[in-house]
Amino acid sequence: MNASYDVIVIGGGIIGTGVARALSRYKIDVGVLEKEPDVCWGTTKANSGIVHAGYDAKPGTAKASFSAPGNKKYGGWTENLSVPFKRLGSFVSTKDKSQLDKLENLLEQGEENGVEELEIITDRKRIEELEPNITEEVEVVLYAPTAGVVAPYKLTIALFENARENGVDFHFNAPVKGIQKGEDEAKFTIESGGGNFDGKYVINAAGIHSDEIAGMVGDDSFSIFPARGEYHLLDSEIEGYVRRINFPLPTQESKGILVTPAAEGSIIFGPNHQPLEEPSVATTKEGLEKVLGGAMKLFPDIDTGKIRTNFAGLRAKAGSDDFVIGESDAADNFVNVAGIQSPGLTAAPAISEHVVGLLEDLGLELIDDSDFDPRRNPIPKFAEMDIDEIAQYTDKYKAAKDIVCRCEEVTRAEIEEAIDRGATTLDGIKFRTRSRMGSCQGGFCTPRLIEILSDKLGVSPKEITKKGDNSYLLAEETKKGE
Ligand SMILES: Cc1cc2nc3c(=O)[nH]c(=O)nc-3n(C[C@H](O)[C@H](O)[C@H](O)COP(=O)(O)OP(=O)(O)OC[C@H]3O[C@@H](n4cnc5c(N)ncnc54)[C@H](O)[C@@H]3O)c2cc1C
Repeated sequence: MNASYDVIVIGGGIIGTGVARALSRYKIDVGVLEKEPDVCWGTTKANSGIVHAGYDAKPGTAKASFSAPGNKKYGGWTENLSVPFKRLGSFVSTKDKSQLDKLENLLEQGEENGVEELEIITDRKRIEELEPNITEEVEVVLYAPTAGVVAPYKLTIALFENARENGVDFHFNAPVKGIQKGEDEAKFTIESGGGNFDGKYVINAAGIHSDEIAGMVGDDSFSIFPARGEYHLLDSEIEGYVRRINFPLPTQESKGILVTPAAEGSIIFGPNHQPLEEPSVATTKEGLEKVLGGAMKLFPDIDTGKIRTNFAGLRAKAGSDDFVIGESDAADNFVNVAGIQSPGLTAAPAISEHVVGLLEDLGLELIDDSDFDPRRNPIPKFAEMDIDEIAQYTDKYKAAKDIVCRCEEVTRAEIEEAIDRGATTLDGIKFRTRSRMGSCQGGFCTPRLIEILSDKLGVSPKEITKKGDNSYLLAEETKKGE
């Protein structure tokens, strides 16, 4: 396939989809090139899901300038897109009153960054009211009520769907392999596995590969160094045991191992910090032990028997340790949005708007599109319906009477709708519906999901994958009902 766009965005993570959606409110042609079969399969898929208050970053850095403003935009962003977001508030806890000055420094830094409502709590009774199961050894906390949790994959999928509704083209399985700079108005020709694409402006939002993409236009001004973070994910049965986002004191390299409720109910512990030569999201015994040890320091009595799975994500650290956002010195109209390590998820709404402004400064004409609709309807969720809603829903859809994922009560209607909206793999369905995210981790529903995917996509069950590439599940074809 070949196509021409005003703006080509490379990468379908939170940054690429956020920028694409922000551009979709104008009368311009936008195309997104993503190497994977779906959005949100890079760093955005596997992180802590925290919308940070914004006190961590040093004032004056790009991280600081986008964090608190990004946090403030989350309410509106997630409401329009119908994505779960909860302002639970965060704690930075210490067991030692002599560390109070460190918390005071963070508070001052936060205030300089524009964070509101920060408070240091030394009253143990109040700490317990806010977080009843935290270790009794905690004496002082920095409380940031504006911090929240979001499901990053749900948010990225929602940005993708809304951008697509508003006219953005998404090209999947389209790894960018080369970029030619031209002299005429269509300044770039991008070669990708999915075809050739011409664009007047290019946004490089390729996460851990953004240095390679910049290198394609002769920009070697930054390198990306991957650093792995591992997690434990607990069963949603334990929901409520932890109420806030709990950090220890931060270290030079990271914010430390946190314990937090996830936006969709369960609890997560993590991440550690492991710089790697080669990117890998494999989990390790040593790493997971370290994560568990860190979590137990804050919640020593938590039921670790409720750990259901583990996962790892990759930080895309630039050498400067800050975000790299701006037009490349090597190519006019080529904009890097790279090195977006934590708190990139938090900063994403503010970064997206900033990039639109950058493009305007570079000469892109932005005329409002009166057809732009910022709202996106979610897939109706059977598990959250009351009895009347269930009656209406099951009247409407026969497939709604068929519960496929028992743990999370996901119906065939939800799964079929996820496929209609773009899921082509088991992970694509999981991130849209939560099937395979429950206690049995897909033990019961995986064969049914393969069957439904194969029916809807019109392909053999053998061709169904977990997450693209060679992640096939079946070696032999089975007949329906076998
Ligand atoms: C362990 C960990 C914990 C974190 N916790 C938090 C947190 O709690 N709060 C927070 O605010 N931030 C957090 N972050 C940071 C946050 O996850 C990132 O800042 C954010 O996800 C970066 O998004 P992105 O779009 O830049 O990158 P990605 O999500 O990696 O997206 C890049 C996309 O580009 C695609 N791509 C790459 N190469 C090519 C190519 N050649 N052609 C086409 N497509 C390509 C990839 O497939 C991918 O989809 C955390 C990060 C990690 C690793």
